[in-house]
Amino acid sequence: MTELLSNFIAGRWQQGSGAGTALFDPVLGTELVRVDATGLDLAAGFDFAREQGGAALRALTYRQRAAMLSAALKVLQANRDAYYEIATANSGTVKNDSAVDIDGGLFTLGTYAKLGDALGDQRCMLDGDAARLGKDPLFQSQHVLTPTRGVALFINAFNFPSWGLWEKAAPALLSGVPVIVKPATATAWLTQRMVKDVVDAGIFPAGALSVICGSSAGLMDQLQPFDVVSFTGSAETAAVIRSHPAVVQRSVRVNIEADSVNSALLLPGDVPGSAAFDLFVKEVVREMTVKSGQKCTAIRRVFVPEALYAPAAEAISARLGKTTVGNPRNESVRMGALVNRAQLNAVREGLALLRTQAEVLHDGAAHALVDADPALACCVGPTLLGAHDADAAHLVHDTEVFGPVATLLPYRDMAHALALVRRGQGSLVTSIYGSDPAALAAAALELADSHGRVHVISPDVGALHTGHGNVMPQSLHGGPGRAGGGEELGGARALNFYHRRSAVQASTAVLAALQAPAA
Ligand code: NAP
Repeated sequence: MTELLSNFIAGRWQQGSGAGTALFDPVLGTELVRVDATGLDLAAGFDFAREQGGAALRALTYRQRAAMLSAALKVLQANRDAYYEIATANSGTVKNDSAVDIDGGLFTLGTYAKLGDALGDQRCMLDGDAARLGKDPLFQSQHVLTPTRGVALFINAFNFPSWGLWEKAAPALLSGVPVIVKPATATAWLTQRMVKDVVDAGIFPAGALSVICGSSAGLMDQLQPFDVVSFTGSAETAAVIRSHPAVVQRSVRVNIEADSVNSALLLPGDVPGSAAFDLFVKEVVREMTVKSGQKCTAIRRVFVPEALYAPAAEAISARLGKTTVGNPRNESVRMGALVNRAQLNAVREGLALLRTQAEVLHDGAAHALVDADPALACCVGPTLLGAHDADAAHLVHDTEVFGPVATLLPYRDMAHALALVRRGQGSLVTSIYGSDPAALAAAALELADSHGRVHVISPDVGALHTGHGNVMPQSLHGGPGRAGGGEELGGARALNFYHRRSAVQASTAVLAALQAPAA
């Protein structure tokens, strides 16, 4: 039997009482560890976090909590090699792809540590200036942000066991709100190990950081009015979360990051061979292949002017053809596995569905696997599809295939292009490529309302830009509509979710004392 990972709740390590669910190596098929949450006293765990963890965190200033984030970062940095080993084994990712998750998480944690330090020793945050309520300026209204007196429950997706933890935990802990994380079962190991390292280092007060691995049963039932829940995952599960009585009846604040049919748009005027065209091709290929396309932000729809359909198909396919797929332990491999057999089957089914409305421009099946048994390994080559009639191919705008798959779509003019992009019904990110600043800016504003982030690439930032799919902590992450309607990160904006906004109406002297240190 493989090791049964422990859960950390109510300030102690506890094993579930069941046999557990096994986690597998998606390349070799071997069982790695097991997780189980059966029989845990969830009510006691949530109470402990809410009461002990919350009180201890709120007794600290932003700067003190930021120092704890810095200390956690040091611990994680010291154990980085172990995280890479877990990622290779459990996520089947090549080193560069593991870095997106692991180092991306650490970078985000570090960013919030710095940001928190700059917030200083205040105990609450002021929101805007005081506003006079009458003729006499003595009596005014000041909006304040104070940390919510509840827990932050994170229910996370399988594709980012590290980044998904820290991009949420960093702003929550900095805000003074205790965290309970429930990682997706398939890749729970890395999250559990990171929490274990930080807990064992004794950095945060008891109850500040808890991890529950295994079934999600009963978690939402624990939530009380001042708790918050942040969910990342599929639209189907998001609907379950949204309709739970905790949200509907108890007004638990909820943030949803769901699936998204993101796009890349090459503006008219940049011909094959131009810098903008080349940047576009490079980014599409990168987005299709990084983490085998298992990124919520990955490019799924690729828009080009009609006349460039064939040259774009050729250029993207030529690059995709060079992608070596297989065992991430082999140095020559550029793209590893999908996370498990269920995802492999889902990608194959999604591909078959899209093929009913699209032609195959580059066939992933043509990629022989390197160092991996095709009967065992959950690997799949990158596939570029294409549909000449972008209006009619409705499945392409509606279906997120969570793997290395994208569809090339031609447009007639800008109005047509913008309408097609919007058929994603709200996405996390779109990227726009061109060399005319005015045209790029106009397209960015046209698409901003339906996207959490608009990534604009012109030749002058060709070597500098951070990538279509890379979520930088300084920028907003989340998207309207189909993408879930959530908002994460965006620098200090992330702290809003963990704070309550209130108006304090008082004399100028009282308002001036709001941020004085507690006696
Ligand atoms: P999922 O099946 O919806 O699972 C997400 C999480 O919800 C897992 O932790 C899962 O636990 C849990 N869960 C399942 N049923 C639940 C229930 N009834 N109540 C409470 N929790 C429940 O999604 P996934 O397959 O892991 O993730 C892939 C999807 O996530 C993709 O569509 C992708 O686009 C999206 N995603 C979005 C973002 C973003 O930031 N917008 C980021 C990453 C991924 P178990 O694993 O134990 O079932």
